[in-house]
Amino acid sequence: MKKVISAMLAAVLLTTAFTACSSSSSSTKEKSSNDLYQRTELKMDTTIDLRAMGPKARTAVDEAMNRLDEIDQEASTNNEKGDVWKINNAAGKDYVKVGPDTLKMIKTAVQYSKLSGGAFDISVGPLIKLWGIGTEAARVPSDMEIKAVLPLVGYDKISINEKDSSVKLEKAGMSIDLGGIAKGFAVDEVIKIYKKYQITDGLINLGGSSIYAVGKNQSGSQWTIGIQHPRLDRNQGLLGKIKLSGEALSTSGDYERYFIKDGKRYHHIIDPHTGYPADTGVMSDTIVIKGDVPDANMIGDLLTTTVFVSGVDKGLKFMESLNGMECAITTTDNKVYASSGMKKRIVDLHPDFKEVE
Ligand code: ADP
Ligand code: MG
Repeated sequence: MKKVISAMLAAVLLTTAFTACSSSSSSTKEKSSNDLYQRTELKMDTTIDLRAMGPKARTAVDEAMNRLDEIDQEASTNNEKGDVWKINNAAGKDYVKVGPDTLKMIKTAVQYSKLSGGAFDISVGPLIKLWGIGTEAARVPSDMEIKAVLPLVGYDKISINEKDSSVKLEKAGMSIDLGGIAKGFAVDEVIKIYKKYQITDGLINLGGSSIYAVGKNQSGSQWTIGIQHPRLDRNQGLLGKIKLSGEALSTSGDYERYFIKDGKRYHHIIDPHTGYPADTGVMSDTIVIKGDVPDANMIGDLLTTTVFVSGVDKGLKFMESLNGMECAITTTDNKVYASSGMKKRIVDLHPDFKEVE
């Protein structure tokens, strides 16, 4: 166990050290020891850490990195050659033909928008732009500015023509943002590549917020994953740890991208109904989904965003309506609300937090 944790810490340190010197010319870190092949790289606006064991580990990881680039290009709001940019650029005008990845993400997003009563909604693009959180343009917009863009938000104004794989945003000025679903989708795609190369042990970690553990770690034990403490840097402490094998883990939090103005935290998860960063007392939430649930990582990714926006009561109720998933939510009063299955799984809970029975 000790060995597992120190291996994990080493990985965290490696990632941290790597992030700190990301401005250096090389953005790739490669490590190969024993049977394990590992690549750590900056992509999709985050640190990607792919590990695999077995004879085809290198091939699988390298191919997976290329696949991630492909998804990033398609889903980016800034890439003029990508599907999302084209859809946004044609808002209020035309249908845009898109590739199967984009179509799948948009279809799934709209499906879960309906299920969640609009808590998850990729058409928050105009609000993301207005707040600029995580960019140099970040600021608190006026109520009037927010009210002015709210009519441009609404998943019911996203039209999908499945037959010819095309998408149209019905109003000029609308835009979609796949930031709450693309990483999870990408993990599911990496799993397909791992399967193709018979990788039975490995770890797929997209920025700590979308993680899938394949089989066992180097010591032959289940992977032990640290869950981010919402108010501490990773090297200062964790919320807790969880052992994973053949499962998807997703976390959303108000600490990922935010700024503080007049003592108030403004973060990157937007309530599509109000136009403001979701303010339900949630600091973070973590969902574990069994790997045999179809698209487990994509669903996990969008669900943590959904639960964050929905708040504890609605969020837990919503999670109960779905099968094969466990959820834990941390709140601003330092409590952890967990589904029954999740309670037993989080170990070494940080003393800052108290679990609600
Ligand atoms: P992370 O990117 O840190 O994993 P999330 O999975 O919670 O975080 O996704 C947050 C991102 O999702 C935001 O940066 C934004 O791009 C997008 N987003 C914000 N609010 C919503 C929302 N209500 N519905 C869908 N997507 C959202
Ligand atoms: Mg998410």
